[in-house]
Amino acid sequence: MTDVTHWVGSRQLLRRLRDAMARGGTTQERLDRIAEIIARGMVAEVCSVYVMQPGERLVLCSTEGLRKDAVYRTQLGVNEGLVGTIAAHASPLALADAQSHPQFAYRPETGEEIYHSFLGVPVVRSGRVLGVLTIQNMTQRNYTEEEVETLETVAMVVAELVAGGDLSVPDELAGPGNSTPVRLEGTRINGGLARGVAVLHERGAPISQTIAEDPDSELERIAEAMSGMQLALDSMVDRMSGDAQATRSGEPLDILRAFRMIADDHGWIRRIREAIQSGLTAEAAVAKVQNDTRARMSQVRDPYLRERLLDLDDLAYRLLQHLTHGAQGGNGVLPLPEDVVLVARSMGPVELLDYDRTRLRALILDEGTAASHVAIVAKALDIPVVGNVRGVIGKVEPGDAVFVDGDNGVAYVRPSEDLQKSFTDSLQSWEKKRAEYAATRDLPAVTRDGQPVSLMINAGLDIDLDHLEESGADGVGLYRTEIPFMIHAQFPRLTKQTELYRDIYDKAEDRPVVFRTLDIGGDKLLPYLRIGEDQNPAMGWRALRIALDRPAILRLQIRALLRASAGRELRVMFPLVAEVAEFDDAKALLEHEVERAKSRDNPLPDQIRVGAMMEVPSLYFQLPQLLERVDFLSVGSNDLVQFLFACDRGNPRVSDRYDVLAPAVLKFLHGVVGQCRGAGVPVSLCGEMAGQPLEAMALIGVGFRILSMPSGAIGAVRHMMQNLDVTELEGYVGSLLGAPDHSLREALRTYAENHGILL
Ligand code: PEP
Ligand code: MG
Repeated sequence: MTDVTHWVGSRQLLRRLRDAMARGGTTQERLDRIAEIIARGMVAEVCSVYVMQPGERLVLCSTEGLRKDAVYRTQLGVNEGLVGTIAAHASPLALADAQSHPQFAYRPETGEEIYHSFLGVPVVRSGRVLGVLTIQNMTQRNYTEEEVETLETVAMVVAELVAGGDLSVPDELAGPGNSTPVRLEGTRINGGLARGVAVLHERGAPISQTIAEDPDSELERIAEAMSGMQLALDSMVDRMSGDAQATRSGEPLDILRAFRMIADDHGWIRRIREAIQSGLTAEAAVAKVQNDTRARMSQVRDPYLRERLLDLDDLAYRLLQHLTHGAQGGNGVLPLPEDVVLVARSMGPVELLDYDRTRLRALILDEGTAASHVAIVAKALDIPVVGNVRGVIGKVEPGDAVFVDGDNGVAYVRPSEDLQKSFTDSLQSWEKKRAEYAATRDLPAVTRDGQPVSLMINAGLDIDLDHLEESGADGVGLYRTEIPFMIHAQFPRLTKQTELYRDIYDKAEDRPVVFRTLDIGGDKLLPYLRIGEDQNPAMGWRALRIALDRPAILRLQIRALLRASAGRELRVMFPLVAEVAEFDDAKALLEHEVERAKSRDNPLPDQIRVGAMMEVPSLYFQLPQLLERVDFLSVGSNDLVQFLFACDRGNPRVSDRYDVLAPAVLKFLHGVVGQCRGAGVPVSLCGEMAGQPLEAMALIGVGFRILSMPSGAIGAVRHMMQNLDVTELEGYVGSLLGAPDHSLREALRTYAENHGILL
């Protein structure tokens, strides 16, 4: 029986917990003491702690009130029972009549049938659910919001104890444990095979103290850190205001101001202060509010609100840095195994680059599609990536052996011996194949019947350019200028941009580079440029549309490109052109910048070639007019196909619904190439499909002679070309274009097999 008849409030409760922890003992002893204190403090008959164990099982590790022999015996899967539901959603559940809840799973060994009301909260640390903390009462009572808050607060203490502790489930009850092989299914983000040791990506350092000795001094600390952070943001605003270019273009400054305003968000600050007043240290309070933000984020679908919650998440990290004076080490300094398979819930592109890239072998993400920024960086690093593996953080333990099959979008954790053997065989033959591709590096990219096909790389990062030489590519067919913008913390100024583009020329040596002007919006967001809410971002305010509405951004970029290419040839193209008038407007901006440079006697490129990207079907119907104006055309098949089929490329539920080898796509492309040839305008294709050997074969079959692709794909495509007879292939592909089929993939594959074409 409890000897306290009213609950004590979180501050007092935390004080009791602190004293109990100070008495030392094993993790188990301290956990038992904690459960008892929480039950008393919250006037509950039961308090239980479930801890996540390998194999994603929530094991009852301590209880006050339930039958003691249920400890370690009662185990629930994630999503199983109320406890599993809390873990799955990382959010609390308060029920007056728990047994009538559809998720209730009765466990007779606990003797819980006499308890009716139930309150449970997740035990979260660094975004990872480590367990669930529950209280139960016999009577049917409605827990107040304050009680939920209190339990969440004490869960911060439990999180630190569990994370740093050594709870050991007895062997006979340990279940399948962490030797059980697990197959993780996700989606392919980047192909390839790799094996290594799991490293879990966690942001931020552990919090060493959760319970405040003196809440008043913690309030002072947080106030100091807040103003430090706000001053830092202010000085960023000032610096930006002093930047004439940025001020003229307006947006970057607006964005920073908006971010600064969020930092002033009274609701957010109030919640942190309340958490401190309830007895947490400043760090633990920020982390607690961050956990709440994350839990909300998982439920919010509205893109604008999600962005705002992401901003708050980011601000929490900044605040934590100010609290610890930046003393926390980044991941880059952690000792890493030789072969790292990085496992992350989500991560930014710069965070990935923090890791020692010589050790990175593969990446597995809970979230993330092929178009996400981190995926773009991972592709540049040429490592296999599997995305969309729901709940991956709970399924992999640090140090687990992991095999990653990027081609099929699966990973094998703790693989069985048989699997190890067969995977090793696959890995060897894959490596052999890569060596064969590498050996074709110096072969001319010419088909068997002597038709040259120019193979170029797509690039966006410095590291991409490193692959130019080793792949033997002819140049850069698509340089995505937005990528460096995406990984910068601020809008790059004129000098920075000029430097960036000069570096690209230097690295490309004499090979041509096609610069695509900023293609932001859609799934590519700049941290400092708020685009606003778009119901349908892929069709929203993006790419050339932003550039034409906010010409200062494009003009600044063109100015940098002109400077960087002085004395050389500049090739530049505009993304997402939907009609000729847009191309004319963009080109007029370019010409204006050229005149400006001339009037100032600034050195200019020797030659300027201006192109357009064919990504929007409407442009097809103005091709004759466009071809009179452009120096070249490049088909962006990623966007083009999504618009042809009205099918969002970033949505895994529909992105596989249509095949890029559908008759409609090939017929469309055939028409584009035909018109370009007639007009004598060079045409290339630079979407992902150019990098798949079978697709590349089909593209050559509809007439393309310039293909631009991720650098890692060049070898395989050149290899495929060796046995290709283009004249015959063109005849065959032409005969398929009128087919009623969903896809021509099988027909093309059979053709390749029958003609000894190596895919
Ligand atoms: C495309 O759409 O095919 C393309 C190359 O552009 P991005 O993938 O950068 O949108
Ligand atoms: Mg595109």
